Amino acid sequence: MEQTWSKVLSELTSQVTNTALNTLFSRINLRKINNGVAVINCADSFVRELMESRYSQLIKTTFAKVCNENVTVTFVVDDTLIFKKKNIEDNAPLFKATTPEMTVIKKLTNSNINPRFTFENFIVGPSNRLAHAASEAVSERLGVLYNPLFIYGGVGLGKTHLMQSIGNRALQIDSNKNILYCSSETFLNEMVDSIRNAKTSQFRDKYRKLDLLIIDDIQFISKWQETQNELFHTFNELYLANKQIVFASDRPPSEITNLVDRLRSRFEGGMVTDIGEPTFEMKVAILKKKCEQSAFHLPEETLETIAQSVDSNIRELEGALNKIYNHKNVTGMIPNTKEIQDILFKDKEKRNKSLNPNFVLKEVAEEFNVKISDLKSESRKAQYSIPRQVAMYIIREDLHYKLEDTAEIVKRKDHTTVINAINKIEELIKTETALKNKIDLIRSRIRRQI
Ligand code: ADP
Ligand code: MG
Repeated sequence: MEQTWSKVLSELTSQVTNTALNTLFSRINLRKINNGVAVINCADSFVRELMESRYSQLIKTTFAKVCNENVTVTFVVDDTLIFKKKNIEDNAPLFKATTPEMTVIKKLTNSNINPRFTFENFIVGPSNRLAHAASEAVSERLGVLYNPLFIYGGVGLGKTHLMQSIGNRALQIDSNKNILYCSSETFLNEMVDSIRNAKTSQFRDKYRKLDLLIIDDIQFISKWQETQNELFHTFNELYLANKQIVFASDRPPSEITNLVDRLRSRFEGGMVTDIGEPTFEMKVAILKKKCEQSAFHLPEETLETIAQSVDSNIRELEGALNKIYNHKNVTGMIPNTKEIQDILFKDKEKRNKSLNPNFVLKEVAEEFNVKISDLKSESRKAQYSIPRQVAMYIIREDLHYKLEDTAEIVKRKDHTTVINAINKIEELIKTETALKNKIDLIRSRIRRQI
């Protein structure tokens, strides 16, 4: 199969432009070929649409040539594959004489915007209505309405999707807008580098040119305490220049540890909105949408069973759908309710076992030479309270438990206990290497379990 594919690709190389090779053909591969049917994975629906509309005939004839037989070609979206993202040079001459689609692809790629994440593909319901409305409003009037827009919520609930939708919509409205989506790490690294290399004006110019800056997972800012002053000035500058800024975080500004007050109030100064866990109806609607996009066909009943079997996280919901779909592909049959539950349960059980907070308590107790019961006891002696705080810190940070649930695990009533514990531990590990090493050790053991 690999040989066939590489032959097909090398044939294609002489038939299409370099631009198409770099932007499109680098983002597809051959999933399988048998009985005269070739199934091609595409990185997203955007690539698939272009393949179907423009290149399917060419690919078909190329396969026929390579395989010496007629081949039917179908395209499917497979975003589980990680495709190398090509950096498209701003001045690549090829772009000057290309189609409007290529211009759009280039713009999207340079902005780090994935055309798959749009408002059109986003299911709205009670848990995300406000965040969605605010995002849509912001995308239509950059820098005017809520600035910054701060979206927070747990893992896999759609924050990145929403932020990306803002970028997609803003570009649809005006493709001349300058937009950048980046992780907080990328942004902060660049800022720090610019300071270190005395290139701050370059950094400033780059960001000043933007109409919309989207920074994801801003909670990691707490690791960058020394640079928060710089950061404040940078945000201020963007803000004063009416640049729209959008942040996402796994928690509200009030819970981000080690955040200097003026940054916190800057974050809270526009609109803060959260995304919660989806309702059952939303989960079914999301599954339907995914099926539509990927040309999967599963009956309503099956989708409902999947929705029932997955708790909350939409990323997991998608994973579950893929598993059921694979099962259907392998066995040729759609699994019934019982089978679906079995398939998904096995998985969940495995994960639950490894993510069990009791495992954290056990590891912490062992590492600090105390009993698990000490971690849950009333005692405030440092010899117990430090390990207890470490346990809360890890359960919250690594297992992503809710504050209240984290508190409950160590028999505490108040979730502020957890916030305090996290603050305390983060403060301590800055100076106390021994403690930090212990924590790193425990974390690596937990990671190995996962
Ligand atoms: P987060 O950034 O909050 O961790 P993501 O935005 O990465 O979560 O979402 C995880 C997955 O779930 C993505 O594939 C996304 O497309 C999908 N998803 C999340 N919310 C929705 C929604 N409301 N409608 C459709 N798909 C969604
Ligand atoms: Mg995200």
